[in-house]
Amino acid sequence: MKRDNILYLVVPCYNEEEVLNITSKALYEKMKTLIKDNKISKKSKILFVDDGSKDKTWELITSFYNNDKMFQGIKLSHNKGSQNALYAGLMFARENADMAICIEADLQDDVNVIDKMLEEYDNGAEIVYGVRSSRKSDPFLKRITASAFYRFMNFIGVEMIVNHSECRLLSKVALDTLAQFSETNIFLRGMIPQLGYKTAIAYYDRGERKAGKSKFNFKKMMNFAMDGIISFSIAPLRLITVIGMLLFAISIVSLLVTLIINLCGTAISGITFIILNMWVLTGIILLSLGIIGEYIGKIQLEVKKRPRYIIEEKLIEKN
Ligand code: UDP
Ligand code: MG
Repeated sequence: MKRDNILYLVVPCYNEEEVLNITSKALYEKMKTLIKDNKISKKSKILFVDDGSKDKTWELITSFYNNDKMFQGIKLSHNKGSQNALYAGLMFARENADMAICIEADLQDDVNVIDKMLEEYDNGAEIVYGVRSSRKSDPFLKRITASAFYRFMNFIGVEMIVNHSECRLLSKVALDTLAQFSETNIFLRGMIPQLGYKTAIAYYDRGERKAGKSKFNFKKMMNFAMDGIISFSIAPLRLITVIGMLLFAISIVSLLVTLIINLCGTAISGITFIILNMWVLTGIILLSLGIIGEYIGKIQLEVKKRPRYIIEEKLIEKN
């Protein structure tokens, strides 16, 4: 083990006042043990990123920082979502650390996964993915939708690690490479596998949230899934082309059939058929426009090149 390696734990927090006291204690103890065992440098830090919380999250982070400078904090001016919060933390870690580990504020990720990740890092991995060995602690609906999402993403050709959420280790090299990705819409689970390098997996049991409620409502989950699909694949656009070609082929066949029937002297009646066709085709056209619209929307957001996050306050003490 290399005792000089500086580790930054990056913890995104959105309205986490209920759980932060428990989290800070658990992470602090873990870091102290790692330092005592010479696994990481004394200069290692726990970096909380307050993602525009409206409760006492920032006050708590400030009090941790005032008690011990192992705790550091960044406050974003507005709620930008966990992806941007994580990214902000990682970019800070990049300046001072040899490696960073992302971990949820609710302690759902077992903190002992950190030891396994450090071992893999010592073995030369630049990226270590935390992968859940089971999803038993997740509600039934979440398990089903998550599994369908991973399958769908793999199906449309997006490289993603199954059952890996945001818990991962990134070395300085990986962080520097990530910093070169200039997109505004960040979807880390899709971006990190694009970095390449030597990777490893650390399995862990994902537990229940220690306190408070999940910050992901249905709308946020849908947005997250859409971001992943639109930012990483043009498969939905291809699908429109395929449907278009299929409908074109069907229209040629029906044209021929109608002509032949007409030539035989029989008139075609079928107002119901025409109405049904109209509804189905209009539906397909609107759906296709919607999909194209989603891509145009994403392009618009990318073209604007707005900052991914705005930092309102920093509690950073450099070593
Ligand atoms: N989070 C965040 N910004 C948000 C939503 C969530 O920084 O807009 C953080 C949250 O505080 C937590 C992590 O992202 O540390 C994962 O959120 P949560 O545990 O609520 O999600 P779940 O585990 O239920 O999917
Ligand atoms: Mg959670």
